[in-house]
Amino acid sequence: MRPKFSAPADGRRSSRPGSAAARANITRLPTAGQPRIAILGAGGFIGSHLVPALALRPGARIVAVDVVFDKLPPGLPGVERVQASIRDSGFLDAITARADIVISLTAMCNPALYNTRPLEVIDASYTDLVPLVKLCAERKRRLIHLSTCEVYGRRALRADGRPSRCMDEDRTALCLGPIHRERWTYAAAKQLLERVIWAYGRHHGLEFTVVRPFNVIGPRMDFIPGVDGQGIPRVLATFMHALLTGQDLVLVDGGRQRRSFLYVDEFVNALLHIVDRPELCQGQIINLGNDKNDVSIRTLARKMASAFRAQRPNARAPRLRTQTAAEFYGAGYEDSIVRIPSMAKAARLLDWRPNMTLAQMLPPIVADYLARYESRVAGDPRARAIAPGLP
Ligand code: NAD
Ligand code: UDP
Repeated sequence: MRPKFSAPADGRRSSRPGSAAARANITRLPTAGQPRIAILGAGGFIGSHLVPALALRPGARIVAVDVVFDKLPPGLPGVERVQASIRDSGFLDAITARADIVISLTAMCNPALYNTRPLEVIDASYTDLVPLVKLCAERKRRLIHLSTCEVYGRRALRADGRPSRCMDEDRTALCLGPIHRERWTYAAAKQLLERVIWAYGRHHGLEFTVVRPFNVIGPRMDFIPGVDGQGIPRVLATFMHALLTGQDLVLVDGGRQRRSFLYVDEFVNALLHIVDRPELCQGQIINLGNDKNDVSIRTLARKMASAFRAQRPNARAPRLRTQTAAEFYGAGYEDSIVRIPSMAKAARLLDWRPNMTLAQMLPPIVADYLARYESRVAGDPRARAIAPGLP
């Protein structure tokens, strides 16, 4: 069931630089060779893997946009780093004037924020991005937008409401919890933006691909609380923080909920295929995940603990402890019970199948966190205060 949206125009319109662009120092890139790609949210976890992969391509022309660049080094060939917010006045106008392709990654995508800063979460995943969609449609720019598997909600449900194993892009119902369960602010905002993108594609000729990532993990994900961020990061970094500081790994509601984990290099590889296959991916919503790595959070904790022990055999033996979701996240949280992607569409359109098991991906991830944080955790009084038992 492929939608037949209008093909991209041959001649791409451009407009004069806006004042915000000049302030943000966006230079005019050369016009020949590779498409000009603007990556919004390039300094985050996925961006810090995607940008170097694109930069390896001869003649790459990339504008990498973010408010922070701690994870993305300067000096990559063909990459211009622009430190700016996409909310800055005139910025999206200026950036879409210069790009052939826009890859949008900006979001507040950490579950601890969904019920504590819900309005900012909704703005980041919806309000701030509606103008981008409109500009891409008007200027005939190709939009590759990163949505989320969270749009499927609590679990996979078929159209008749009965459960199914996998989440299918074009068949599975989207099952979010009630409004007072603020956990779903992010999913609802992402879902509504998908609907806006779809409508611009269907009715106004927007060339787009929407990606729904399923728990991508790898080096440089999130932050370690007390060292380079505050609050609760996603589960990988939360467990790494506990391992680095000798604290218990906390299993929310016992850790029976399940996730399907995909290694970031394989995810980026699929994104490159999407960039390279505009016709096949036109007007498509595509899951990117690994159905073979469907595990409970308890199992993830055990596997991370043993990967850590393999590299630090003398560290205190990690322990698991259960906490309720209300204690851990506060009121308004609700969990996704199980999320397994249907892989059929990604395999068909991208000729892509990820292979890496958790046993293969966890050792390099643990090694990366050890290299970046071990000495900083040991030397940081805030991290040590959280972890008095640090060996
Ligand atoms: P991330 O938080 O590491 O990166 C997001 C980046 O966007 C951050 O560097 C942030 O500074 C930047 N940003 C936010 N608002 C901005 C603004 N107004 N202007 C400029 N930059 C801004 O997240 P990530 O894991 O790299 O995820 C990237 C995208 O993929 C997100 O849209 C997320 O919803 C989606 N996604 C990721 C996963 C995953 O497993 N990592 C799963 C589902 C969906
Ligand atoms: N979780 C947990 N302990 C933690 C952090 C998270 O048990 O220290 C659980 C969380 O409740 C969720 C799962 O791990 O069920 C994955 O959480 P993550 O933050 O990665 O985000 P999600 O997959 O829910 O978007």
